[in-house]
Amino acid sequence: MWGIIATWRMAHDGVLAAKKMLEAEAFAGDAMETAIKSVEDYPFYKSVGYGGLPNENGILEMDAAYMDGDTFAIGAVAGITDVANPISVARKLSHDKFNSFRVGDGATQYAMLEGFERKNMLTERAKKIWEKRCEEIAKTNLSPYDGHDTVGMVCLDKQARMTAGTSSSGLFMKKKGRVGDSPLSGSGFYVDAEVGGAAATGLGEDLMKGCLSYEIVRLMAAGLTPQQACDKAVYEFADTLTRRYGKAGAFSLVAMNNEGAWGVATNVEFTFSVAVKDGTCGIFMANPGPDHTTLIQPITQEWLDAYEKRIKAPV
Ligand code: ASP
Repeated sequence: MWGIIATWRMAHDGVLAAKKMLEAEAFAGDAMETAIKSVEDYPFYKSVGYGGLPNENGILEMDAAYMDGDTFAIGAVAGITDVANPISVARKLSHDKFNSFRVGDGATQYAMLEGFERKNMLTERAKKIWEKRCEEIAKTNLSPYDGHDTVGMVCLDKQARMTAGTSSSGLFMKKKGRVGDSPLSGSGFYVDAEVGGAAATGLGEDLMKGCLSYEIVRLMAAGLTPQQACDKAVYEFADTLTRRYGKAGAFSLVAMNNEGAWGVATNVEFTFSVAVKDGTCGIFMANPGPDHTTLIQPITQEWLDAYEKRIKAPV
């Protein structure tokens, strides 16, 4: 068996590249890194890597993590700047016994010393969107925090090795130094190759409150299918948080077990990409359904066309 599942439509081209590699016996870590890099490199995705939207000061601070499900090795970076592929830096850090989660200047300096490609990640387009938003906020007092989507993936290869990874520019207009769930083990991602893995996107501040990626893996270990585990973890926690904290932000989680079965749960409209050996390969739309279930349907061409138009629309 082999398989890969990833958050958002933006992951799909990378998933197709990973699929080819997995079919050709590649290591899950290599296939997943290739897939995440392709999202980081694409200039029209506003929330990951090159083209990502900056913090309130106009600086693009990025978060990423890599986890090996066989050894539990984790590498992560938060608030890294001017580096082309944060996921590759995170992966390299996962080989280190100490200092494997680096933030801010420490992360950027590490990447430079290790010879990772330095790149100005703020595109003219992202800068324009930021300038426009600053003007709007000055005029209207709008909440600045929208436009955030993390690419999160879980990957299984033919030899049953598993990895999980994330990459994100976090919340648009975030405060300097703000870090979300994406680089945090258990919240943004988790994988145990003897069970399965999960990855998250949504409001990091709230996802962290429930450690939802770990919770899904724990539920799969207890015998639930990936879909049951996602439904239970996501909807029960969204309810609990609403009751005890007053509200729950957006939560969308994807999961895959070590047999390539997968699941998704979300409290908002959410797209994801999946490819597994049995033939399922595509982009799907998920929505919260009745009684803590998730409605999943293939994406329509109409939606894809509108998406393409939206991400490339003049600023
Ligand atoms: N989880 C990310 C963060 O809070 C953002 C997102 O995935 O939408 O930084």
